[in-house]
Amino acid sequence: MLGTQGELLEYHTHYRWATIIVVVVFLILLARLFYVQVIEGERYEGLALISHVVKHRIVPARGAIRDRNGTVLATDVEVADLTMVPQYVKDPKATTGRMVELGVLTQDEADKIVRQIEEAKKGKKKFHRLVAYKNLVGNRCPEDLTALSFDRNSGLMVCPVCGAEYMDQKAVIQSHLHELQGFSIQSRMVRHYPMRSAFVHALGFVNEVNAEEVAAHPKTYRPGDLIGRTGIEGALDADLRGKPGLDSFVRMAGGARMRPEELPEMFKDLQSYPPEPGTDITLSVDLNLQQVALAALSRHRSGAVVVMDVHTGEVLVMASHPSLPVGPRLHAVTGSAARDIEVAYAPMVNKAVSAYPPGSTFKPMTVVGGFVENIFDYDTVVNCPGHFDYRGRRFHCYKRSGHGDMSLIPSLAQSCDTYYYQLGEIMGIDLIAHYAKDWFGIGEKTGVEIYEQSGVMPTESWYREKGVSFQPGFAINSSVGQGDVRATPLGMARAYAALVNGGLVLKPKLVRWKGPHDLAHDKVQPEIIRRLDIPEQLVQAMMAGMYDAVNNEQGTAFKSAIPDLPYAGKTGTAQARERRPDVSNDVAAWLLQDHAWFVAYAPAKRPQVVVSVFVEHGGFGGAEAAPVAKKVIEAYYAEHSDEFADLWEGFKEQDALEVIWP
Ligand SMILES: [Zn+2]
Ligand SMILES: [Zn+2]
Repeated sequence: MLGTQGELLEYHTHYRWATIIVVVVFLILLARLFYVQVIEGERYEGLALISHVVKHRIVPARGAIRDRNGTVLATDVEVADLTMVPQYVKDPKATTGRMVELGVLTQDEADKIVRQIEEAKKGKKKFHRLVAYKNLVGNRCPEDLTALSFDRNSGLMVCPVCGAEYMDQKAVIQSHLHELQGFSIQSRMVRHYPMRSAFVHALGFVNEVNAEEVAAHPKTYRPGDLIGRTGIEGALDADLRGKPGLDSFVRMAGGARMRPEELPEMFKDLQSYPPEPGTDITLSVDLNLQQVALAALSRHRSGAVVVMDVHTGEVLVMASHPSLPVGPRLHAVTGSAARDIEVAYAPMVNKAVSAYPPGSTFKPMTVVGGFVENIFDYDTVVNCPGHFDYRGRRFHCYKRSGHGDMSLIPSLAQSCDTYYYQLGEIMGIDLIAHYAKDWFGIGEKTGVEIYEQSGVMPTESWYREKGVSFQPGFAINSSVGQGDVRATPLGMARAYAALVNGGLVLKPKLVRWKGPHDLAHDKVQPEIIRRLDIPEQLVQAMMAGMYDAVNNEQGTAFKSAIPDLPYAGKTGTAQARERRPDVSNDVAAWLLQDHAWFVAYAPAKRPQVVVSVFVEHGGFGGAEAAPVAKKVIEAYYAEHSDEFADLWEGFKEQDALEVIWP
């Protein structure tokens, strides 16, 4: 398996190097011969047999990437290309015609190769090995790289994933190579993602190095090498890529390799070493939960789900919808529906780490600041008539008819905006920002291994730098996660984890283990960025509010409750009206909808995971985002039913308020 790609690459530079090497070796030999034969007068018969020195770079296998249970998510597989050396193809029409007869090529493909050969024979590349036909069907589907199975009845290879039937082109060509002078089959490693698009955003992709990269790092890269560009493939490229090996040898005039013990003294220091394969990576993600999350998102146009362990920061799910098709041949999607997908729903973007206005899921951050600063306390009651008037401007509560008298717990459960407008107005934008950013990390990067947006937590000076004249009303928008506040689903997951794990702001981790996969390595040490001193009574009150949001019939997510195994959370419905040119009426209407959010933790008692759901322009958080979280939490409970069995024995509502400090 190793070395096959190196062989192909060798041909790109083979000729020039071979010429230089042969000339140099020849000159050395000549001098040596003169010295040996004339000066020393000895006879050195072996040297006359030497043809040239070959230095052959061996490309290492790239490390595999697995999920936490060992399922392979990315690995290298071998594919075959039909190659030829133009000058050696004596009769291009007849040779390619034979391949048409054999059913391997269509006449069009054959004609194209004939033109390629004729063109090359005129130029410098006539002795180069060129690819005539990429991705011959062998034992893998050319669309999705799945291993094909042989169907006895049809004599064809069948793909279990896409159902397509193929002729084994590689086998047919191999058995007729004697008739195909100048042609041969060359193997090449390609990256294969057996779970298809399930993790495409977190894993990222690889492609060939470009000319500038080769020029900048000539020792590391050669043309044709693969390099990780985004996601884990990009962030851990140095671990995954391994180190190339070198096979240096002396070829004898007859073509055979000279045995090391036969080598004349001057070649004794020719170096050969094996390639070091890339390091395998085990991620913290859980394929099953990821697939449940993607399935739940699939009824929406666009969105993301993040599931994070609240004690270790391990990311169990990082799902972004819609996803990209993966495979060696990406089909160009056409038509207006495809255009909508490209333009409006941004399948390239990892929405789990992209920043959006978080709406009411931000409110717990405002609460912590307001209570720690003693601006509000447990007895504070704000009357909600459905709006809050401030300096001639009216800020509406989402419930236009008003919530009446609101204190902390119902304000969270029923998501009354007026309570937070009042609190935010007193706090001011800088104090809100201080708690949200310096405490909970909203507006800063989480430090996860892959690319992420930091989000925005605006302050007075932030507006000044932007050249926007600051208005005190901006604080009112910030207090409910509107205005210019931007947070990522991952950033929100981390903030909520800190609320329920005893105040630990953690670095989220996608990577669980570097090295050969080993389930024994299952203790992950949390990386603590800072510890928050949130009063225990405040945590209990907030957990009561978030418990009620899901489990009280007045709560905003009551329809998504799981009665026997309660969880808790906070909904968000963020205004995010957008207008974009050149979109269909359907997309234009979608862009006017609110973003739907829901950040939950489960179980309600002794939380283990946070589930952060974002549905882009999905509408109301409780109605659109909460059902997605419910499905993911149900799947999580099913996976861990034995751990939670005793937790629910005689469960009482107040148990949800039991704070377990780690
Ligand atoms: Zn297929
Ligand atoms: Zn209200």
